[in-house]
Amino acid sequence: MTTAVTVLGPSGRMGKAILAAAVGRTDVRIAAALDRSDAPDVGKEVAPGVVTTSLIDAALAAAPVYIDFTTPNATAAIASQARQRRIAAVVGTTGLTQAGERALDELAEVAAVVGAPNFSVGVNLLLGLCALAAKTLGTAWDAEIVELHHKAKRDAPSGTALGLARAIAAARGQDLEQVGRYARSGDVGPRPAGEIGAVAVRGGDVVGEHTAYFFGAGERIELSHRATDRAIFAHGALRAAVWAAGQKPGRYDMIDVLGMR
Ligand code: NAD
Repeated sequence: MTTAVTVLGPSGRMGKAILAAAVGRTDVRIAAALDRSDAPDVGKEVAPGVVTTSLIDAALAAAPVYIDFTTPNATAAIASQARQRRIAAVVGTTGLTQAGERALDELAEVAAVVGAPNFSVGVNLLLGLCALAAKTLGTAWDAEIVELHHKAKRDAPSGTALGLARAIAAARGQDLEQVGRYARSGDVGPRPAGEIGAVAVRGGDVVGEHTAYFFGAGERIELSHRATDRAIFAHGALRAAVWAAGQKPGRYDMIDVLGMR
């Protein structure tokens, strides 16, 4: 069976990667492409028979599921429109606002919503490995995350770094809001026990790298993932779209899609 999919932001880095990943797959068919009216690809054919439009309603009506790697504002606005049509969503946009999260919660009342800060299989495995390490080592080992991304990335720390920090906190019975530390400068004093640090490095064309450090006394563990090609996120998002089209309403993540729960 082939699942029809609407792609948002086909002019963007991830939108292009999704269109490219769909070529040759038999489980998905690009049915529509939606971008801002001033985006470069509006009016162009970006997949067989699919011309990018800026008309939200027409784009959403074309498929039972859409893939969204855009901006926090766009994610919130489009989720509200999708709710009226009960369209399932795969959302990769990071740095979502409270309004964005609320719009996705509301959409999830009537359709499946898969959201993940990272759609790669490797990173989702890394989440599980970090949780295992944190549970085993406890707060006696200092946990720090370092992430690298290209210079155009807008949010920091990355959604993936925050996801790793959240997994570590949860495995240690902590609330990330209380123990997360995302900047250090000046006379910050000794590191408090139990803190979870996340540091963002930006430059060049780095697709995305994350390392979780666990520092013990006299030893250190480093768990790393390096993305070298956006195709990994694109194929993960397409897999999630096929999965979401057959699911009951609710919020899901990539761990659900991969059957790793
Ligand atoms: P980008 O700036 O290259 O592309 C964004 C696209 O969204 C552009 O085509 C833009 O015109 C479009 N857009 C903006 N407003 C829109 C609207 N109202 N309607 C429709 N389209 C709209 O960005 P990118 O590098 O592709 O990243 C996009 C998002 O995806 C970021 O939040 C990034 O952090 C995230 N991301 C997530 C993952 C993951 O696996 N979850 C992986 C990579 C990137």
